Amino acid sequence: MIKPRIAFDLDETLGVTITDSTSIIGFRLRDGCIELLEQLKLKYHLVLWTVASRSYLDKVLSFGLKDYFQETYSWSEIAGSWKDIRKIKVEFLIDDNEYYKEAAKKYGLESHYIIVPAYGCFEDNKEPLKWVQIVIPRLSSFYCDSEIQE
Ligand SMILES: [Mg+2]
Repeated sequence: MIKPRIAFDLDETLGVTITDSTSIIGFRLRDGCIELLEQLKLKYHLVLWTVASRSYLDKVLSFGLKDYFQETYSWSEIAGSWKDIRKIKVEFLIDDNEYYKEAAKKYGLESHYIIVPAYGCFEDNKEPLKWVQIVIPRLSSFYCDSEIQE
């Protein structure tokens, strides 16, 4: 079975970097992150897409996230004014940046963007698992829709 491809943004979507005064020393995953990725990796081909540089991405991946993603993309491979999902051929992009969904409207692609509250924002602090509750139903409704069409 070919797994549907979905992409995640990195910073403020999955967590934030931990730094000391000079360098990155870790990556703090947000609540529910590992549980969600463990669940999704069974059904989906997971892609990680950041607009940060490759060296930054590789550094962050070394703290544990690399086990979940079959493909990773950074600004070094794909630069552009917005994250166009057609460039990496994914069904969905999960991202904290509303701007990408807005940009996608021009092409009628906005339903493929799942925007979640940024890690650490007011809304997230109030309900730390809300982002998971946004992602899961959107992905499962896609599943049901595609089954009906077959
Ligand atoms: Mg982000």
